[in-house]
Amino acid sequence: MGLLTGKRALIMGLANDNSIAWGISKAFHAEGAELCFTYVGDAIEKRVRPLAASLGVDFIEPCNVDNDADIDNLMVAIKNRWGTFDIIIHAIGFAKKEELAGDYLNVTREGFRIAMDISVYSLTAVVKAARPLLNNGGSVLTLTYHGSQQVAQNYNVMGVAKAALEASVRYLASDLGPDNIRCNAISAGPIRTLAASGISGFKDLLKNFPDVAPLRRLVTQEDVGNMAMFLCSDLASATTGEIIYVDAGFRNVSVKI
Ligand code: NAD
Repeated sequence: MGLLTGKRALIMGLANDNSIAWGISKAFHAEGAELCFTYVGDAIEKRVRPLAASLGVDFIEPCNVDNDADIDNLMVAIKNRWGTFDIIIHAIGFAKKEELAGDYLNVTREGFRIAMDISVYSLTAVVKAARPLLNNGGSVLTLTYHGSQQVAQNYNVMGVAKAALEASVRYLASDLGPDNIRCNAISAGPIRTLAASGISGFKDLLKNFPDVAPLRRLVTQEDVGNMAMFLCSDLASATTGEIIYVDAGFRNVSVKI
């Protein structure tokens, strides 16, 4: 028996084997969860299918979260295949590359709208559509970054979006709690992924991080995957509305001497 045996998990945000969603998928699979993957666009689909196959998963659906019809179609597919399910992993974020460099105040109205829509509203949109299918004891998990709390150079509109995402987690936890469904976020340290490569200066952030972090190392997709597995398991049954850090302790250090 694994810690997630008998649980069905929707994994949104797998792009390739560097994705945080991949670390989560491997941990979930190891603990017995049944998985469904989503993808957006042909290029991502080509990468997701073999990864899914390597875990024996053939439940793969398209879903662009900027589109309510896609989200509704996804829920119809889940209802037809599973009836109900237990876990939503929302590992999705997007801002235009030009918004992730230079001064925050140069953000455009459209750039702000896109970042908020795809990185923030999508969590609520997916949870709203999924709610009738979510089982008692279910769990929703999203991914955030400490740029929501303190200024991280070049993170800009994504920092503002992550602050709104973290607030959404608390409101969703309040709405879902009476049905015994939990909602949390993991605030991950920097990890080299497709999304992260869009942030100007990200390589320098990675280079300097282990010098400051108490654990003197970067965090991995596996570190995040294991925490996600714990948070979505019944072991975390009274934890909701929380932002849990998986950052090797980085945010607790202000000045390194
Ligand atoms: P990634 O590029 O592997 O994953 C991002 C995913 O978002 C991709 O699968 C992409 O297809 C998906 N996506 C983008 N726009 C979408 C849309 N309109 N509809 C559906 N899916 C869409 O990168 P990642 O770093 O694994 O990102 C996962 C999450 O983790 C993001 O929310 C990111 O902000 C967060 N995060 C990342 C880091 C890091 O350093 N990599 C740190 C903290 C938090």
